[in-house]
Formats: sequence, C-alpha cells, structure tokens
Amino acid sequence: MKMDIVREHLEELGLSEVLRVLESRLEQAAKGDWSYLELVERLLTEEVAARRERSLQTRTRLARIPVLKHLEDFDFDAQPGVDRQQIHELATLTFLDRRDNVCFLGPPGVGKSHLAIGLALRALEEGYTAYFTTLDRLVQDLRQAQERGTWEKRLRVYVKPRLLVLDEIGYLPLDREAGNWLFQLVSRRYEQGSTLLTSNKSYGDWGTFLGDPVLATAILDRLLHHSVTVNIRGESYRLRNRRKAGMATVPPHPTDGGDAG
Ligand code: ADP
Ligand code: MG
Repeated sequence: MKMDIVREHLEELGLSEVLRVLESRLEQAAKGDWSYLELVERLLTEEVAARRERSLQTRTRLARIPVLKHLEDFDFDAQPGVDRQQIHELATLTFLDRRDNVCFLGPPGVGKSHLAIGLALRALEEGYTAYFTTLDRLVQDLRQAQERGTWEKRLRVYVKPRLLVLDEIGYLPLDREAGNWLFQLVSRRYEQGSTLLTSNKSYGDWGTFLGDPVLATAILDRLLHHSVTVNIRGESYRLRNRRKAGMATVPPHPTDGGDAG
C-alpha cells in the first residue's frame, strides 16, 4: 500500500514528526481543501519545529542548566532592586556579540541565579553555546581532572562556550591553586566569549576570598575590561514570600525591627 511505503521512507529519512502527524494532516487537508503546497509546507514546518525543540532540549541538558528559570518568570514588580530595562537590554544578547562579561552582584535570594539562567536559556534558544557551573563545582571538577591527568582537556569545557555562567563566586574561599585556575579560565576567555558571573561579594572583597589581592586585581582587570555590572539590592525573594505567608521569624534586615517612620 502507498501509505506503508510512505511510512517506510519517512522512517528511513528520520522525519519522525511528519510520520507522527501525517494521517491527521492528510484528513485535515482533504476536509479543509488545502493545496498540495500547503500540505507539504505544514508537514515540513512541523518537522522543523519539532527538531528545533529537541535540539534545544539536548543543548540545554548539555549546558548543565540546573533548573529551568526563564526570564519571563521573573517578577520585576517583586524585585524593584532590578532594573527592568537593563535586563531587557541584556536579553537582546548583544553582549554576547561584543564578548562582554556580565556580573550580577547582590545578597542571597534576590534572583541572581534566576536571571543568569534565564539569559543562558535565551542564548541557547538563539543558537549560542552555553555552559552553567558554580565556582565551587568548577574547582571540584578541575581538581578531579588534575588527579586523572586530564586538567587541560577539562578546562576546555569551560573555555569553549560562547556564554559561561559562573554562579556563586565568593561563597567559599579559594585556595591558591583554585585561584590560579580561575585566573587562567578568565584569561583564556578574555575577548573570546562572555562570562556571566554572580556573586554576593563586592569587587573589593575579592582579595579576601581569593586570599591574594594581586591575583584578585589581575582577574578583575580582565573580567571587567568589557563588562556590565548589575547591582541588585533588595530583600530575598524566598524570605519575602515566607514573610508574606506569616512564616518568617526574622525581619528581612536586622534594622527593620520597628516602625521607624
Ligand atoms: P540568588 O541567586 O540571588 O541567591 P535566586 O535566583 O536563586 O537568588 O532566587 C531564589 C529563588 O527565588 C529562586 O527560586 C528564584 O527563581 C526565585 N526568585 C527570586 N527573585 C525572583 C523574582 N523577582 N521573580 C520570581 N522568582 C524569583
Ligand atoms: Mg544563586
């Protein structure tokens, strides 16, 4: 039968979406009086869309995005400390074309990781390569690679992507070796790709968590040469929600205890 032959061909060609929708589209075409061209166009459009979606999912997995946090899910009204315009500008991804870096600075819970992941997802959607890691995980990973003698090869995983998200810089102090690795990574990515980092520390504190002010200056010099810094002030989104639900036992700021007005 003709239909069996068509199915076999679609299978061999790997046109799985066309295979899946063929029968119902043929019916629709008959009912709706579609032209031949219209039928072909619809089938191929569906195949292409399904492939793009699959590819995006695979690339998102390979990018090690930990949770799907989209920019669309970010509530700007809940976080007046974030400049909506600035995030919209970043979402155009022109910073990737300029190889600029982006730094989200601010206290815990204000949405730094959410925004970083949102931008990484946007980059993946637009076909750029991206990779997500926390600084802590990066160091652990490179340490393991060093023991196995694959340090160089492993570093390339972090050097290559057009966008590297380095989350949670400064939460844990780095030893001398790890500090040097960070320097090498930042140097190799300099003007090659964009690094997006988040930190709860201001730049002035980098000397302390790196244990070496000279190294901190060298890293920041390369990192900040072409960069955008987004300072997020405000209270933790998590705390805020718990407070709203009447569950928080601590005020958002130690000084917020009473009616100061
Ligand atoms: P940070 O990285 O600054 O510590 P996160 O980005 O991890 O904070 O935010 C903590 C949690 O609160 C996450 O689940 C995040 O999705 C959510 N969140 C933070 N700010 C917002 C916001 N303005 N709108 C929606 N969700 C938010
Ligand atoms: Mg975070």
